[in-house]
Amino acid sequence: MPRVRLFHPAEGVQTAEIGQDAQVIGRPGVQSQIQVSDSGLSRRHGHVWADAAGVWYEDLGSSNGSWKGEERLQSKLRLEPGVELRLGPNLRLSLFEEEQGLPPGMEVCMEAEAGAEGLSSQYISALYEMVDRLLGASGVGYIPEVIARLKREIPAAGRIALVGWPCPANGGWEELVPSSHGASFVSRSLARYAVERGKGLLLADWSRPTDLEMPFSAVMQGIRNAFYIPLLFEGTAFGVFCVDSPDAELALTPQHFQFVCAVAGLLATTLSAERLREEARAKEAARAGLAAFLQIASHDLKNPLHSIANGARLLTVAKPEQQPRLVSAILTASNRATDLIKTYLDVASVESGKALTVDWAVVDCRSVIEEEVEFLRGVLSFGHPLQVFACAEVRVDERKFRQIVTNLASNAIKYSPSGGMVTIAAGVSDGLLRVEVTDRGTGISAADQARLFQAFQRVGDVSLAPGTGLGLWITAALVAAQGGQIGVTSEPGQGSTFWFTIPQGEG
Ligand code: ADP
Repeated sequence: MPRVRLFHPAEGVQTAEIGQDAQVIGRPGVQSQIQVSDSGLSRRHGHVWADAAGVWYEDLGSSNGSWKGEERLQSKLRLEPGVELRLGPNLRLSLFEEEQGLPPGMEVCMEAEAGAEGLSSQYISALYEMVDRLLGASGVGYIPEVIARLKREIPAAGRIALVGWPCPANGGWEELVPSSHGASFVSRSLARYAVERGKGLLLADWSRPTDLEMPFSAVMQGIRNAFYIPLLFEGTAFGVFCVDSPDAELALTPQHFQFVCAVAGLLATTLSAERLREEARAKEAARAGLAAFLQIASHDLKNPLHSIANGARLLTVAKPEQQPRLVSAILTASNRATDLIKTYLDVASVESGKALTVDWAVVDCRSVIEEEVEFLRGVLSFGHPLQVFACAEVRVDERKFRQIVTNLASNAIKYSPSGGMVTIAAGVSDGLLRVEVTDRGTGISAADQARLFQAFQRVGDVSLAPGTGLGLWITAALVAAQGGQIGVTSEPGQGSTFWFTIPQGEG
Protein backbone atom coordinates (compact mmCIF):
# COMPACT_ATOMS: atom_id res chain seq x y z
CA MET A 1 0.00 0.00 0.00
CA PRO A 2 1.41 3.46 -0.77
CA ARG A 3 2.26 5.72 2.12
CA VAL A 4 2.40 9.43 2.67
CA ARG A 5 4.74 11.28 4.93
CA LEU A 6 3.77 14.29 7.01
CA PHE A 7 6.25 16.60 8.60
CA HIS A 8 5.41 19.24 11.13
CA PRO A 9 8.15 21.32 12.78
CA ALA A 10 6.72 20.74 16.27
CA GLU A 11 5.11 17.32 15.90
CA GLY A 12 7.88 15.67 13.87
CA VAL A 13 7.37 13.09 11.16
CA GLN A 14 4.47 10.69 10.78
CA THR A 15 3.62 8.32 7.97
CA ALA A 16 0.25 6.84 6.99
CA GLU A 17 -0.79 4.03 4.68
CA ILE A 18 -3.26 5.15 2.07
CA GLY A 19 -5.98 2.89 0.65
CA GLN A 20 -8.96 3.52 -1.59
CA ASP A 21 -11.03 5.05 1.21
CA ALA A 22 -10.22 8.72 1.62
CA GLN A 23 -8.60 9.69 4.91
CA VAL A 24 -9.09 13.20 6.23
CA ILE A 25 -6.09 15.17 7.47
CA GLY A 26 -6.88 17.76 10.10
CA ARG A 27 -6.70 18.92 13.68
CA PRO A 28 -7.47 16.19 16.27
CA GLY A 29 -11.19 15.43 16.50
CA VAL A 30 -13.70 12.87 15.30
CA GLN A 31 -13.67 14.19 11.75
CA SER A 32 -10.06 13.43 10.83
CA GLN A 33 -8.22 10.14 10.58
CA ILE A 34 -4.73 11.64 10.20
CA GLN A 35 -4.29 14.19 12.95
CA VAL A 36 -1.79 16.95 13.54
CA SER A 37 -2.10 19.49 16.35
CA ASP A 38 -1.63 22.79 14.61
CA SER A 39 -4.00 25.73 14.94
CA GLY A 40 -3.16 26.67 11.35
CA LEU A 41 -4.96 23.55 10.13
CA SER A 42 -8.71 23.16 9.71
CA ARG A 43 -10.49 20.24 11.39
CA ARG A 44 -11.09 18.77 7.93
CA HIS A 45 -8.24 20.32 6.05
CA GLY A 46 -7.84 17.94 3.13
CA HIS A 47 -8.13 14.29 2.28
CA VAL A 48 -5.89 11.64 0.68
CA TRP A 49 -6.75 8.41 -1.10
CA ALA A 50 -5.20 6.02 -3.59
CA ASP A 51 -6.33 4.46 -6.84
CA ALA A 52 -4.62 2.69 -9.72
CA ALA A 53 -3.19 6.00 -10.95
CA GLY A 54 -1.50 6.88 -7.66
CA VAL A 55 -2.08 8.81 -4.44
CA TRP A 56 -4.35 11.86 -4.55
CA TYR A 57 -4.82 14.88 -2.32
CA GLU A 58 -7.64 17.40 -2.28
CA ASP A 59 -8.22 20.40 -0.05
CA LEU A 60 -11.62 20.31 1.68
CA GLY A 61 -12.20 24.07 1.66
CA SER A 62 -9.76 24.79 4.52
CA SER A 63 -9.31 28.37 5.65
CA ASN A 64 -5.50 28.47 5.23
CA GLY A 65 -5.52 26.40 2.09
CA SER A 66 -3.20 23.75 0.67
CA TRP A 67 -0.29 24.84 -1.45
CA LYS A 68 2.07 23.53 -4.05
CA GLY A 69 4.87 26.09 -4.02
CA GLU A 70 3.17 29.46 -4.45
CA GLU A 71 0.05 28.01 -6.00
CA ARG A 72 -3.07 27.40 -3.87
CA LEU A 73 -4.73 24.08 -4.79
CA GLN A 74 -8.14 24.44 -6.39
CA SER A 75 -8.75 20.82 -7.32
CA LYS A 76 -7.50 17.34 -6.55
CA LEU A 77 -3.83 16.67 -7.26
CA ARG A 78 -1.81 13.51 -7.73
CA LEU A 79 1.22 13.38 -5.43
CA GLU A 80 4.49 13.10 -7.33
CA PRO A 81 7.70 11.65 -5.89
CA GLY A 82 9.92 14.34 -4.40
CA VAL A 83 7.20 17.03 -4.41
CA GLU A 84 5.95 18.47 -1.12
CA LEU A 85 2.58 20.12 -0.53
CA ARG A 86 2.08 22.58 2.29
CA LEU A 87 -1.11 22.29 4.30
CA GLY A 88 -1.79 25.52 6.19
CA PRO A 89 1.31 27.41 7.28
CA ASN A 90 3.37 24.52 8.65
CA LEU A 91 2.42 20.99 7.68
CA ARG A 92 4.28 19.34 4.78
CA LEU A 93 2.80 16.40 2.90
CA SER A 94 4.66 14.20 0.42
CA LEU A 95 4.75 10.65 -0.88
CA PHE A 96 6.74 8.43 1.46
CA GLU A 97 9.93 7.27 -0.19
CA GLU A 98 12.68 5.10 1.20
CA GLU A 99 15.52 7.48 1.86
CA GLN A 100 18.95 6.52 0.57
CA GLY A 101 22.38 7.75 1.48
CA LEU A 102 23.21 10.77 3.53
CA PRO A 103 21.00 13.85 3.75
CA PRO A 104 22.49 16.91 2.10
CA GLY A 105 24.78 18.90 4.31
CA MET A 106 25.72 15.89 6.47
CA GLU A 107 29.28 14.69 6.33
CA VAL A 108 30.92 11.52 7.57
CA CYS A 109 33.90 12.75 9.52
CA MET A 110 35.15 9.38 10.66
CA GLU A 111 34.43 5.69 10.32
CA ALA A 112 35.46 2.97 12.74
CA GLU A 113 34.78 -0.61 13.70
CA ALA A 114 34.23 -1.35 17.36
CA GLY A 115 37.52 -1.66 19.19
CA ALA A 116 39.40 -0.09 22.08
CA GLU A 117 42.64 0.91 20.32
CA GLY A 118 44.00 4.33 21.04
CA LEU A 119 41.62 5.08 23.91
CA SER A 120 42.63 7.35 26.75
CA SER A 121 43.23 5.66 30.12
CA GLN A 122 40.09 7.33 31.55
CA TYR A 123 37.94 5.66 28.92
CA ILE A 124 39.72 2.35 29.22
CA SER A 125 38.97 2.13 32.92
CA ALA A 126 35.33 3.12 32.29
CA LEU A 127 35.18 0.34 29.72
CA TYR A 128 36.60 -2.20 32.17
CA GLU A 129 33.94 -1.29 34.69
CA MET A 130 31.24 -1.70 32.08
CA VAL A 131 32.57 -5.11 31.05
CA ASP A 132 32.58 -6.16 34.71
CA ARG A 133 29.00 -4.97 35.11
CA LEU A 134 27.74 -6.75 32.01
CA LEU A 135 29.65 -9.98 32.54
CA GLY A 136 28.45 -10.21 36.12
CA ALA A 137 24.83 -9.73 35.07
CA SER A 138 22.54 -12.14 33.35
CA GLY A 139 20.28 -10.78 30.64
CA VAL A 140 20.31 -7.21 29.42
CA GLY A 141 19.14 -5.63 32.68
CA TYR A 142 22.40 -3.73 33.18
CA ILE A 143 22.49 -2.08 29.80
CA PRO A 144 20.60 1.07 30.98
CA GLU A 145 23.20 1.44 33.71
CA VAL A 146 26.00 1.23 31.16
CA ILE A 147 24.27 3.85 29.03
CA ALA A 148 23.89 6.13 32.05
CA ARG A 149 27.63 5.71 32.70
CA LEU A 150 28.36 6.61 29.08
CA LYS A 151 26.36 9.81 29.49
CA ARG A 152 28.36 10.72 32.56
CA GLU A 153 31.61 10.21 30.65
CA ILE A 154 30.43 12.24 27.64
CA PRO A 155 28.16 15.16 28.58
CA ALA A 156 27.73 15.98 24.87
CA ALA A 157 25.90 12.64 24.38
CA GLY A 158 22.55 14.29 25.06
CA ARG A 159 20.39 11.67 23.35
CA ILE A 160 21.13 7.97 23.20
CA ALA A 161 19.04 5.17 21.72
CA LEU A 162 19.60 1.52 20.95
CA VAL A 163 17.20 0.61 18.15
CA GLY A 164 16.44 -2.63 16.32
CA TRP A 165 17.28 -2.99 12.62
CA PRO A 166 15.56 -3.16 10.17
CA CYS A 167 13.16 -0.44 11.18
CA PRO A 168 9.60 -1.85 11.06
CA ALA A 169 7.59 -0.87 7.97
CA ASN A 170 5.22 1.37 9.96
CA GLY A 171 8.19 3.67 10.65
CA GLY A 172 8.24 3.33 14.46
CA TRP A 173 11.54 2.26 15.98
CA GLU A 174 11.75 -0.81 18.13
CA GLU A 175 13.98 0.14 21.03
CA LEU A 176 16.22 -2.73 22.06
CA VAL A 177 16.53 -1.09 25.45
CA PRO A 178 13.93 1.63 26.03
CA SER A 179 15.53 4.99 26.71
CA SER A 180 14.07 7.77 28.83
CA HIS A 181 13.59 10.12 25.84
CA GLY A 182 12.42 7.50 23.34
CA ALA A 183 13.96 7.05 19.91
CA SER A 184 12.05 9.70 18.00
CA PHE A 185 15.26 11.61 17.23
CA VAL A 186 16.76 8.64 15.36
CA SER A 187 17.10 9.23 11.62
CA ARG A 188 16.13 6.31 9.45
CA SER A 189 18.41 7.43 6.62
CA LEU A 190 21.46 7.74 8.87
CA ALA A 191 20.76 4.36 10.47
CA ARG A 192 20.44 2.77 7.03
CA TYR A 193 23.63 4.45 5.93
CA ALA A 194 25.59 3.11 8.89
CA VAL A 195 24.19 -0.40 8.38
CA GLU A 196 25.04 -0.34 4.68
CA ARG A 197 28.62 0.76 5.42
CA GLY A 198 28.87 -1.82 8.24
CA LYS A 199 30.88 0.67 10.28
CA GLY A 200 30.34 3.20 13.01
CA LEU A 201 29.97 6.72 11.64
CA LEU A 202 30.83 10.04 13.20
CA LEU A 203 28.58 12.51 11.45
CA ALA A 204 28.57 16.24 11.57
CA ASP A 205 26.99 19.10 9.74
CA TRP A 206 29.02 21.85 11.36
CA SER A 207 29.59 23.47 8.03
CA ARG A 208 25.93 23.78 7.08
CA PRO A 209 24.03 27.03 7.76
CA THR A 210 21.37 26.19 10.35
CA ASP A 211 18.50 28.06 8.67
CA LEU A 212 18.68 26.00 5.47
CA GLU A 213 15.43 24.13 4.87
CA MET A 214 15.88 20.50 3.82
CA PRO A 215 13.25 17.86 3.25
CA PHE A 216 15.18 15.00 4.83
CA SER A 217 14.36 13.47 8.16
CA ALA A 218 17.82 13.83 9.66
CA VAL A 219 17.92 17.54 9.16
CA MET A 220 14.28 17.92 10.10
CA GLN A 221 14.91 16.09 13.31
CA GLY A 222 17.59 18.63 14.17
CA ILE A 223 20.53 16.25 13.96
CA ARG A 224 23.79 18.12 13.64
CA ASN A 225 26.41 15.95 15.29
CA ALA A 226 25.92 12.24 15.93
CA PHE A 227 27.34 8.72 16.09
CA TYR A 228 25.48 5.95 14.28
CA ILE A 229 27.06 2.58 15.01
CA PRO A 230 25.65 -0.71 13.67
CA LEU A 231 25.36 -3.60 16.14
CA LEU A 232 26.44 -6.81 14.44
CA PHE A 233 25.67 -10.46 15.15
CA GLU A 234 27.57 -12.92 12.97
CA GLY A 235 28.26 -10.14 10.47
CA THR A 236 24.63 -9.00 10.14
CA ALA A 237 23.30 -5.81 11.67
CA PHE A 238 20.46 -6.34 14.13
CA GLY A 239 20.48 -2.87 15.64
CA VAL A 240 21.98 0.59 15.60
CA PHE A 241 23.45 2.49 18.51
CA CYS A 242 22.64 6.18 18.07
CA VAL A 243 24.24 8.96 20.05
CA ASP A 244 23.38 12.51 19.29
CA SER A 245 24.38 15.92 20.55
CA PRO A 246 21.49 18.34 20.14
CA ASP A 247 23.38 21.06 21.98
CA ALA A 248 25.32 23.28 19.59
CA GLU A 249 27.78 24.17 22.38
CA LEU A 250 28.77 20.56 23.08
CA ALA A 251 30.50 18.67 20.29
CA LEU A 252 30.99 14.93 20.00
CA THR A 253 34.69 14.46 19.22
CA PRO A 254 36.71 11.69 17.53
CA GLN A 255 38.02 10.67 20.98
CA HIS A 256 34.41 10.26 22.19
CA PHE A 257 33.69 8.33 19.03
CA GLN A 258 36.41 5.72 19.68
CA PHE A 259 35.06 5.18 23.17
CA VAL A 260 31.41 4.91 22.05
CA CYS A 261 32.39 2.42 19.32
CA ALA A 262 34.01 0.23 21.97
CA VAL A 263 30.90 0.49 24.16
CA ALA A 264 28.72 -0.37 21.16
CA GLY A 265 30.82 -3.50 20.56
CA LEU A 266 30.26 -4.46 24.18
CA LEU A 267 26.52 -3.92 23.90
CA ALA A 268 26.36 -5.91 20.65
CA THR A 269 28.08 -8.86 22.37
CA THR A 270 25.75 -8.68 25.36
CA LEU A 271 22.62 -8.45 23.23
CA SER A 272 23.78 -11.27 20.93
CA ALA A 273 24.45 -13.51 23.92
CA GLU A 274 20.97 -12.75 25.19
CA ARG A 275 19.59 -13.61 21.75
CA LEU A 276 21.29 -16.98 21.79
CA ARG A 277 19.91 -17.61 25.27
CA GLU A 278 16.43 -16.69 23.99
CA GLU A 279 16.76 -19.04 21.02
CA ALA A 280 17.68 -21.84 23.40
CA ARG A 281 14.64 -20.98 25.54
CA ALA A 282 12.42 -20.98 22.41
CA LYS A 283 13.68 -24.46 21.47
CA GLU A 284 12.86 -25.63 24.96
CA ALA A 285 9.38 -24.09 24.62
CA ALA A 286 8.94 -25.86 21.26
CA ARG A 287 9.68 -29.18 22.95
CA ALA A 288 7.09 -28.38 25.58
CA GLY A 289 4.80 -27.36 22.71
CA LEU A 290 5.17 -30.79 21.21
CA ALA A 291 3.91 -32.37 24.40
CA ALA A 292 0.93 -30.03 24.32
CA PHE A 293 0.46 -30.90 20.67
CA LEU A 294 0.00 -34.56 21.45
CA GLN A 295 -2.79 -33.59 23.81
CA ILE A 296 -4.35 -31.50 21.08
CA ALA A 297 -4.06 -34.33 18.60
CA SER A 298 -6.48 -36.29 20.71
CA HIS A 299 -8.85 -33.33 20.44
CA ASP A 300 -8.73 -33.49 16.61
CA LEU A 301 -9.53 -37.16 16.76
CA LYS A 302 -12.87 -36.19 18.21
CA ASN A 303 -14.47 -35.73 14.75
CA PRO A 304 -14.01 -39.28 13.40
CA LEU A 305 -14.65 -40.81 16.81
CA HIS A 306 -17.87 -38.86 17.00
CA SER A 307 -18.88 -40.29 13.60
CA ILE A 308 -18.06 -43.81 14.74
CA ALA A 309 -20.12 -43.41 17.91
CA ASN A 310 -23.06 -41.96 15.98
CA GLY A 311 -22.91 -44.71 13.38
CA ALA A 312 -22.78 -47.41 16.04
CA ARG A 313 -25.75 -45.89 17.86
CA LEU A 314 -27.79 -45.79 14.63
CA LEU A 315 -26.76 -49.34 13.84
CA THR A 316 -28.61 -50.61 16.88
CA VAL A 317 -31.90 -49.27 15.53
CA ALA A 318 -31.26 -49.49 11.76
CA LYS A 319 -33.24 -51.68 9.39
CA PRO A 320 -31.18 -54.50 7.83
CA GLU A 321 -31.01 -52.75 4.45
CA GLN A 322 -29.57 -49.59 6.08
CA GLN A 323 -26.85 -51.48 7.91
CA PRO A 324 -24.22 -51.84 5.13
CA ARG A 325 -24.19 -48.06 4.59
CA LEU A 326 -23.73 -47.38 8.29
CA VAL A 327 -20.99 -50.00 8.59
CA SER A 328 -19.20 -48.44 5.65
CA ALA A 329 -19.50 -44.97 7.26
CA ILE A 330 -18.06 -46.34 10.50
CA LEU A 331 -15.16 -47.93 8.62
CA THR A 332 -14.44 -44.68 6.76
CA ALA A 333 -14.38 -42.75 10.03
CA SER A 334 -12.12 -45.28 11.70
CA ASN A 335 -9.71 -45.17 8.73
CA ARG A 336 -9.69 -41.42 9.11
CA ALA A 337 -8.84 -41.70 12.78
CA THR A 338 -5.94 -43.99 11.88
CA ASP A 339 -4.79 -41.51 9.21
CA LEU A 340 -4.86 -38.67 11.70
CA ILE A 341 -2.72 -40.61 14.13
CA LYS A 342 -0.25 -41.35 11.33
CA THR A 343 -0.17 -37.65 10.49
CA TYR A 344 0.60 -36.74 14.07
CA LEU A 345 3.39 -39.28 14.18
CA ASP A 346 4.70 -37.73 10.95
CA VAL A 347 4.70 -34.29 12.50
CA ALA A 348 6.39 -35.58 15.62
CA SER A 349 9.16 -36.97 13.45
CA VAL A 350 9.49 -33.66 11.55
CA GLU A 351 9.95 -31.99 14.90
CA SER A 352 12.65 -34.42 15.90
CA GLY A 353 14.44 -33.73 12.60
CA LYS A 354 13.54 -36.94 10.73
CA ALA A 355 12.29 -36.72 7.13
CA LEU A 356 8.69 -37.78 6.47
CA THR A 357 8.25 -40.84 4.31
CA VAL A 358 6.14 -40.25 1.22
CA ASP A 359 3.92 -42.91 -0.38
CA TRP A 360 3.44 -41.66 -3.92
CA ALA A 361 0.31 -42.81 -5.74
CA VAL A 362 -1.69 -41.71 -8.75
CA VAL A 363 -5.17 -40.70 -7.58
CA ASP A 364 -8.21 -39.06 -9.06
CA CYS A 365 -7.89 -35.53 -7.70
CA ARG A 366 -11.50 -34.55 -8.16
CA SER A 367 -13.01 -37.56 -6.39
CA VAL A 368 -10.51 -37.36 -3.51
CA ILE A 369 -11.38 -33.69 -2.94
CA GLU A 370 -15.11 -34.40 -3.21
CA GLU A 371 -14.86 -37.23 -0.69
CA GLU A 372 -13.11 -34.89 1.75
CA VAL A 373 -15.80 -32.26 1.24
CA GLU A 374 -18.47 -34.90 1.83
CA PHE A 375 -16.75 -35.97 5.01
CA LEU A 376 -16.58 -32.36 6.22
CA ARG A 377 -20.28 -31.94 5.53
CA GLY A 378 -20.89 -34.92 7.80
CA VAL A 379 -18.87 -33.62 10.74
CA LEU A 380 -19.14 -29.85 10.52
CA SER A 381 -22.65 -28.67 10.01
CA PHE A 382 -22.08 -25.62 7.85
CA GLY A 383 -24.16 -23.49 5.55
CA HIS A 384 -21.52 -22.66 2.95
CA PRO A 385 -21.99 -23.35 -0.74
CA LEU A 386 -18.87 -25.31 -1.67
CA GLN A 387 -17.62 -25.57 -5.26
CA VAL A 388 -14.97 -27.98 -6.49
CA PHE A 389 -13.13 -27.50 -9.79
CA ALA A 390 -10.48 -30.16 -10.16
CA CYS A 391 -8.46 -32.03 -12.69
CA ALA A 392 -8.39 -35.83 -12.82
CA GLU A 393 -5.15 -37.73 -12.25
CA VAL A 394 -2.43 -36.41 -9.98
CA ARG A 395 0.54 -37.95 -8.28
CA VAL A 396 0.54 -37.32 -4.52
CA ASP A 397 0.82 -39.01 -1.15
CA GLU A 398 -2.90 -39.66 -0.82
CA ARG A 399 -3.13 -39.59 2.95
CA LYS A 400 -1.15 -36.38 3.22
CA PHE A 401 -3.06 -34.81 0.33
CA ARG A 402 -6.41 -35.59 1.95
CA GLN A 403 -5.24 -34.12 5.25
CA ILE A 404 -4.02 -30.91 3.56
CA VAL A 405 -7.30 -30.42 1.68
CA THR A 406 -9.38 -31.09 4.81
CA ASN A 407 -7.34 -28.68 6.92
CA LEU A 408 -7.56 -25.83 4.39
CA ALA A 409 -11.23 -26.40 3.59
CA SER A 410 -12.26 -26.64 7.25
CA ASN A 411 -10.39 -23.37 7.97
CA ALA A 412 -12.16 -21.70 5.01
CA ILE A 413 -15.47 -22.77 6.55
CA LYS A 414 -14.48 -21.89 10.12
CA TYR A 415 -13.26 -18.40 9.30
CA SER A 416 -16.06 -17.25 7.00
CA PRO A 417 -19.67 -16.43 7.78
CA SER A 418 -22.38 -18.96 7.04
CA GLY A 419 -23.47 -18.64 3.41
CA GLY A 420 -20.01 -17.47 2.24
CA MET A 421 -18.89 -19.31 -0.87
CA VAL A 422 -15.88 -21.64 -0.52
CA THR A 423 -14.14 -22.75 -3.69
CA ILE A 424 -11.55 -25.48 -4.13
CA ALA A 425 -9.74 -25.45 -7.46
CA ALA A 426 -7.01 -27.86 -8.53
CA GLY A 427 -5.09 -28.14 -11.76
CA VAL A 428 -1.75 -29.22 -13.18
CA SER A 429 0.35 -26.89 -15.25
CA ASP A 430 4.02 -27.22 -16.25
CA GLY A 431 4.42 -30.34 -14.15
CA LEU A 432 3.12 -28.66 -10.99
CA LEU A 433 -0.14 -29.47 -9.21
CA ARG A 434 -1.61 -26.32 -7.70
CA VAL A 435 -4.61 -26.36 -5.38
CA GLU A 436 -6.34 -23.19 -4.20
CA VAL A 437 -8.91 -22.96 -1.43
CA THR A 438 -10.70 -19.62 -1.51
CA ASP A 439 -13.15 -18.16 0.98
CA ARG A 440 -14.92 -14.84 1.45
CA GLY A 441 -14.31 -14.75 5.18
CA THR A 442 -12.48 -12.60 7.70
CA GLY A 443 -9.21 -12.42 5.77
CA ILE A 444 -5.80 -12.02 7.36
CA SER A 445 -3.63 -8.91 7.67
CA ALA A 446 -0.25 -8.86 5.92
CA ALA A 447 1.57 -8.83 9.26
CA ASP A 448 -0.28 -11.93 10.48
CA GLN A 449 0.24 -13.82 7.22
CA ALA A 450 3.96 -13.96 7.92
CA ARG A 451 3.55 -16.16 11.01
CA LEU A 452 0.50 -18.27 10.13
CA PHE A 453 2.45 -21.37 9.21
CA GLN A 454 4.33 -21.52 12.50
CA ALA A 455 3.13 -23.72 15.34
CA PHE A 456 0.60 -22.39 17.85
CA GLN A 457 -0.15 -19.21 15.90
CA ARG A 458 -3.73 -18.01 16.03
CA VAL A 459 -4.38 -14.59 14.56
CA GLY A 460 -7.16 -12.02 14.19
CA ASP A 461 -10.28 -12.48 16.28
CA VAL A 462 -9.57 -15.89 17.82
CA SER A 463 -13.00 -15.99 19.46
CA LEU A 464 -14.59 -16.58 16.00
CA ALA A 465 -13.86 -20.29 15.99
CA PRO A 466 -12.23 -22.82 18.26
CA GLY A 467 -8.78 -23.93 17.17
CA THR A 468 -5.27 -24.81 18.20
CA GLY A 469 -3.07 -22.85 15.82
CA LEU A 470 -1.51 -26.13 14.68
CA GLY A 471 -3.49 -27.01 11.54
CA LEU A 472 -1.51 -24.83 9.11
CA TRP A 473 1.78 -25.83 10.67
CA ILE A 474 0.96 -29.50 10.11
CA THR A 475 -0.32 -28.69 6.62
CA ALA A 476 2.91 -26.90 5.71
CA ALA A 477 4.98 -29.90 6.88
CA LEU A 478 2.83 -32.26 4.78
CA VAL A 479 3.21 -30.07 1.69
CA ALA A 480 6.98 -29.70 2.18
CA ALA A 481 7.37 -33.49 2.51
CA GLN A 482 6.00 -33.80 -1.03
CA GLY A 483 8.44 -31.17 -2.30
CA GLY A 484 5.76 -28.49 -2.63
CA GLN A 485 5.15 -24.99 -1.38
CA ILE A 486 2.28 -23.38 0.51
CA GLY A 487 1.15 -19.78 0.81
CA VAL A 488 -1.73 -17.39 1.23
CA THR A 489 -3.04 -14.25 -0.38
CA SER A 490 -5.56 -12.40 1.69
CA GLU A 491 -7.11 -9.00 2.43
CA PRO A 492 -8.72 -8.34 5.79
CA GLY A 493 -12.50 -8.35 5.37
CA GLN A 494 -12.30 -9.69 1.80
CA GLY A 495 -11.41 -13.35 2.31
CA SER A 496 -8.39 -15.54 1.70
CA THR A 497 -6.91 -17.92 -0.83
CA PHE A 498 -4.67 -20.60 0.63
CA TRP A 499 -2.69 -22.40 -2.09
CA PHE A 500 -0.22 -25.23 -2.25
CA THR A 501 1.76 -26.95 -4.98
CA ILE A 502 3.11 -30.48 -5.43
CA PRO A 503 5.59 -31.21 -8.23
CA GLN A 504 4.37 -33.99 -10.51
CA GLY A 505 7.80 -35.25 -11.63
CA GLU A 506 9.23 -38.70 -10.94
CA GLY A 507 10.18 -39.39 -7.34
P1 ADP B 1 -6.61 -23.16 14.07
O1 ADP B 1 -7.65 -22.98 13.02
O2 ADP B 1 -6.75 -24.44 14.81
O3 ADP B 1 -6.50 -21.99 15.00
P2 ADP B 1 -4.61 -23.16 11.96
O4 ADP B 1 -3.13 -23.42 12.07
O5 ADP B 1 -5.38 -24.02 11.03
O6 ADP B 1 -5.18 -23.29 13.43
O7 ADP B 1 -4.81 -21.66 11.57
C1 ADP B 1 -4.02 -20.68 12.25
C2 ADP B 1 -4.75 -19.36 12.27
O8 ADP B 1 -4.82 -18.86 10.95
C3 ADP B 1 -6.21 -19.47 12.72
O9 ADP B 1 -6.30 -19.35 14.13
C4 ADP B 1 -6.84 -18.27 12.02
O10 ADP B 1 -6.62 -17.13 12.80
C5 ADP B 1 -6.02 -18.12 10.75
N1 ADP B 1 -6.68 -18.71 9.56
C6 ADP B 1 -6.46 -19.92 9.03
N2 ADP B 1 -7.20 -20.10 7.93
C7 ADP B 1 -7.91 -18.96 7.75
C8 ADP B 1 -8.87 -18.51 6.78
N3 ADP B 1 -9.26 -19.28 5.77
N4 ADP B 1 -9.37 -17.26 6.94
C9 ADP B 1 -8.98 -16.46 7.96
N5 ADP B 1 -8.09 -16.84 8.91
C10 ADP B 1 -7.56 -18.07 8.81
